[in-house]
Amino acid sequence: MALIDSFRRRIDYLRISITDHCNLNCGYCMPVFSDRPHLDHSEILSYEELLRLAEAAVGTGISKIRITGGEPLVRKGMVEFCHMLGSLPGLENLALTTNGVHLAKMAHSLKTAGVKRVNVSLDTLKRDRFEAIAGRDKLDDVLHGIREADAVGFHPVKINVVVMRDVNDDEIAQLAALTYQHAWHVRFIELMPFQHARFGDYRDLYMPIGTIIKRIPHINKAHVGPALATNGPARMCTLPGAKGKIGFIAPMSWHFCGSCNRLRLTADGKIRTCLFSETEIDVKRPLRTGATKHELVELLRDAVKAKPRRHHLSRGLRPDLVQRAMHAIGG
Ligand code: SAM
Ligand code: SF4
Repeated sequence: MALIDSFRRRIDYLRISITDHCNLNCGYCMPVFSDRPHLDHSEILSYEELLRLAEAAVGTGISKIRITGGEPLVRKGMVEFCHMLGSLPGLENLALTTNGVHLAKMAHSLKTAGVKRVNVSLDTLKRDRFEAIAGRDKLDDVLHGIREADAVGFHPVKINVVVMRDVNDDEIAQLAALTYQHAWHVRFIELMPFQHARFGDYRDLYMPIGTIIKRIPHINKAHVGPALATNGPARMCTLPGAKGKIGFIAPMSWHFCGSCNRLRLTADGKIRTCLFSETEIDVKRPLRTGATKHELVELLRDAVKAKPRRHHLSRGLRPDLVQRAMHAIGG
């Protein structure tokens, strides 16, 4: 019953975007306001529809689901939804990606609902800079959220840092140093090009992972590169004496397409075969017109068959390749 694609990759991971709405406004993710057609509630899949699809997926070899968005914690009822998802027989890992703004007050109930892993986005430790990147002064809430997630037993809390030249690249060492005090995983991510992102010219902002790594004092260079332990797309290592780990996710420099194991479901019910491919398979209409579980499984198989071998973004860094904004795909 496994899902195997045309390049013999086993697909066992589904990322579900439950909303395209967000309480932040990150310049690398969100389009300018006039350009941002947020979905109406009736256009997004209901929890009942999402569960039907998830049940079909889990019965067909998906063993890990990640909830994302937009900002997943802003959708009403998401904890109850996580609880229902977490109870699906065969689902081994339920994870969440969040900006952390509401995490402090929700961490405990998310844990109780069966969420096993939490990734939190944090690009800076400076309040004014946080506001400049994300549009709102919420750094303290996010830090509180990370500490609370740790306290209720999400181990390790994973922190995602998108590095941008002349925006936050001067904080790489300080963010990596968080791992000396905390058993967190701090993962540095190369900026990816999205056509509608509000921030300026992608080519000015992009910083390759090789340059990011050089900014980290005491890193054992011998561990960097293909020899680093891989953990999904992240390559991980430990700074000497640190409690936590640092990691690198380099979709541009070291594309990890050869080991890609995922499908994405957008909030409006399209399965995307790759973050950077415009191929989408509609499941909303079938879900709303009474598709059987068997028919849903067939749609998942079609999506898996349509997965491309790899993305070609690094060939010339063309930001026009991706039509949907990141918040509307589900990062
Ligand atoms: N709102 C949640 C959050 O921020 O974690 C979940 C959705 S967000 C789209 C998922 C991840 O995508 C975040 O870690 C964010 O930093 C990342 N992201 C968004 N736009 C990006 C871009 N242009 N390049 C690299 N990462 C990006
Ligand atoms: Fe919202 Fe996450 Fe996009 Fe920032 S990266 S605007 S928090 S969806």
